[in-house]
Amino acid sequence: MDTKHLYEISQKHMWLPFTQMKDYEEAPLIIESGEGVRLKDIHGNEYLDGYSSLWLNVHGHRRLEIDDAIKEQLDRIAHSTLLGAANVPSIQLAEKLIQLTPEGLTRVFYSDSGAESVEIAIKMAYQYWQNKGITEKTKFVTLANGYHGDTVGAISVGSIDIYHRVYSALMFNSFAVPFPSASWHPSGDEQTAKEESLAAMRTLFEEHHEQIAGLIVESMVQGAGGMHMMPAGYLKELERLCGEFQILFIVDEVATGFGRTGKMFAVEHEGVSPDIMTIAKGITGGYLPIAATVTTEEVYEAFYGDYKEMKTFFHGHSYTGNQLGCAAALANLAIFEKENLVEQAARKAEYVKKLLTEINTLPHVGEIRQLGLMCGIEIVKDKATNEPFPAEERTAYRATLRMRELGMLTRPLGNVIVFMPPLASSYEDLDEMAVIMKQAIHEISNEKVYAEN
Ligand code: PMP
Repeated sequence: MDTKHLYEISQKHMWLPFTQMKDYEEAPLIIESGEGVRLKDIHGNEYLDGYSSLWLNVHGHRRLEIDDAIKEQLDRIAHSTLLGAANVPSIQLAEKLIQLTPEGLTRVFYSDSGAESVEIAIKMAYQYWQNKGITEKTKFVTLANGYHGDTVGAISVGSIDIYHRVYSALMFNSFAVPFPSASWHPSGDEQTAKEESLAAMRTLFEEHHEQIAGLIVESMVQGAGGMHMMPAGYLKELERLCGEFQILFIVDEVATGFGRTGKMFAVEHEGVSPDIMTIAKGITGGYLPIAATVTTEEVYEAFYGDYKEMKTFFHGHSYTGNQLGCAAALANLAIFEKENLVEQAARKAEYVKKLLTEINTLPHVGEIRQLGLMCGIEIVKDKATNEPFPAEERTAYRATLRMRELGMLTRPLGNVIVFMPPLASSYEDLDEMAVIMKQAIHEISNEKVYAEN
């Protein structure tokens, strides 16, 4: 393989997602293969997959059972449309998903990405009220600092300024309520932050419930917003408020679903059963682009009727419900069952907590936030005051580049280093990743401080 040619073409003709191409040109990386929790580049260098190939890999790469399931499906058919016709693995997967998701959810609407599963949730919630003749309910409520994907509908219910500001003229307006984070609240107290956020939500619902179609929130953890966890009882209270004010409760499990937080779905931490739930990422074990929006019979029934009534849900893409993806998802979920993977992941999370306590002793590590195997390590200039390094120094980004040199991949979120290893990482893999993170953070943050002194 001509590696020089690959580099040249990747820089000349490709445009990578969520990537400043100047950064890519300065530090290009071309992956060629993977095995278990390791990825290999075109030079044969190996990297531990510290971010589960963007938060979705579950069992590591090239898991035999999933590879075989895809090959077997290939012997039957790769794809046929789901528009007006079901296919075998999509039916089998729907049955499985309904068994796994909270009680009350009975209908699966497939799509290809997390963002699309959110677009569907938005359109579904909006049209639910239209179909019921309650046509003023057209608005959505979200939590500040939320992230639900990058398409226009999804950014309209998201509020991470750096990703969304430039598109503001394209977006529809949503209401945003403060996220109940102790670290952002002036009191520094979680209980106060929670009470204030709930009070703001109640006031908004009291004043505007007649216009509000749905509330959409990430499940327990704001991921892309920097790994911020909801206080206990908060999600449950949101569910109750939505019920009281006849607002659809939409919970986004794209990042948190499939064992990531130590439960199959993060709503289980609170015993919540939303009206609409979005799932993606880990659904195929990180193999193929399948996502789904799961909802109740109540929502489904509002769309059911004679064609003339115009209640049909007008959504569906060319590759919706792809057979290879559904076959991969079925094999993935079978491994979850066979290996008791959710319980195993919860135990590994406890182990990771200890490893992160070690990392927390570093002078430039601030808060470390974790739920299950979803972790964020905040890099700070001053540990006592939590003052960050100036954003333009990109300290966390540079730390991840150093990690790459040391043999591990991840991506930062601002000044937060994401640590989301595959659920099937061994204890030794986790040890190795922790050693690399510790060394890289130590070197990069100190290098800056030495330079200043
Ligand atoms: N919702 C949440 C909570 C997410 O974290 C993400 C992606 N990180 C998305 C939606 C979008 O998913 P996708 O990248 O598959 O479109």
